[in-house]
Amino acid sequence: MPKIANIWLRSILSTIYQRGQMTRTEILQATGLNAASVSHALRYLLGTGTILKLGEIQSRGGRRSEVLKLNSDAAYFVAIDLEGTRIRIAFTNLVGDVRYRWEEDIEWGKPLEMKRIRYGVKMVLRNLRAPQRSRLVAAGISYPGIGDRQGSITAVNLGWQKVDLAGEMQEACGVPVFLEHSHRTCIIAERLVGCAQGSDNCVYVEVGQGIGASIISDGCHLAGRDRMAGELGHMVVDPDAKDRCKCGNYGCLESIASSPNVVRQYLADTKGQPHHLIGSKVGRVFERAQHGDKAALKVLDRVGSVLGIGLANLVNLLNPELIILGGDLPKGESVLLPRIKKELQRHAIRDFSEGLQIRVSSLGPDIRLMGATFLAFRNCLLYPQLLKKLCEPVIVVSSQQAVNLSGNTRTRLTAANVPIAAYREIPGNAARLERAKR
Ligand SMILES: [Zn+2]
Repeated sequence: MPKIANIWLRSILSTIYQRGQMTRTEILQATGLNAASVSHALRYLLGTGTILKLGEIQSRGGRRSEVLKLNSDAAYFVAIDLEGTRIRIAFTNLVGDVRYRWEEDIEWGKPLEMKRIRYGVKMVLRNLRAPQRSRLVAAGISYPGIGDRQGSITAVNLGWQKVDLAGEMQEACGVPVFLEHSHRTCIIAERLVGCAQGSDNCVYVEVGQGIGASIISDGCHLAGRDRMAGELGHMVVDPDAKDRCKCGNYGCLESIASSPNVVRQYLADTKGQPHHLIGSKVGRVFERAQHGDKAALKVLDRVGSVLGIGLANLVNLLNPELIILGGDLPKGESVLLPRIKKELQRHAIRDFSEGLQIRVSSLGPDIRLMGATFLAFRNCLLYPQLLKKLCEPVIVVSSQQAVNLSGNTRTRLTAANVPIAAYREIPGNAARLERAKR
């Protein structure tokens, strides 16, 4: 067999990863590689079991074409999400399905001890058998706050000041670790399986405990000098406001429209009334507004207005084709989105707002785990040693013996002979990813 170039493998694997399943002709067209390179690379990947034949389809002319897909058990990743008030750690397979997860609520701002994250990693990896362990290739981490080039993180919600997250997690997971800011892992997931597929000029805006944006312009991430571009939450939208932001300024978008501040304003407005006890859930404020609660509607009028102004500034500056709103905002879509759109139309340049799509994210709370998994996968393609590990022959373990897929005794991968029973399967995730890919 001729030497297989890494660039062929990279191109083919990333294309199938994004599409889910493809014929040889589709792979040829999508990668732009020549026919001989695709043929050699596919033979190699089928031989190692990294990709599998799903079946055949017949074209109108009667020609048969093989449909190929990634072998979901060819590689595994650890995905870690440290955003917000709940940390999530997952063990995922090559196609991004969560096979086992560990989650825990954390207290906002209270220092999170590294041993709790280590414990979570241990919990998701404890059921791995040796063959799976050997195919654990990398870990992806979605972090909040500020990260430096050495992988140290400073994050308010975790109570961290320059914590060596990369070093600690590399030791805990035993594989290379890749880190990305949580806003960017969200847009990575949206471009892969969400509503930003095929979009080269889009912005993901997270409205939750804080507010931030991740920007794709002409197909590239706008990262900035310290990879911190997109701090939309600290754009001043009301300079005369009395709302003090955690950054020390007054009238920042976040000081009015982030979830804790929506709740704060509602509680202040309804002080003394028996129904003001809503806890700290912004979803309750949205529910009350949906039922016509005047105090809730008044707060959301203001919140929708400042979000519209913030987004209009973003639109005038960046001229995107798509804005995706995520975080807690989807829960209040019916009341907030019309208010946001109205204000955005008022302030954005008309030519820029015409045809602009504003969508609400549908990827749910796993969005950053999906992004972290893809981050790990993408980096595996970039580093030759990891790519080699990803493409190593898949070992299928039966109760009696281990069979090498690239050898003469070819064993079909079925649920019966792939020992996945030890993992806690999370129903629905695989189906959702499949739906999103279509
Ligand atoms: Zn601020």
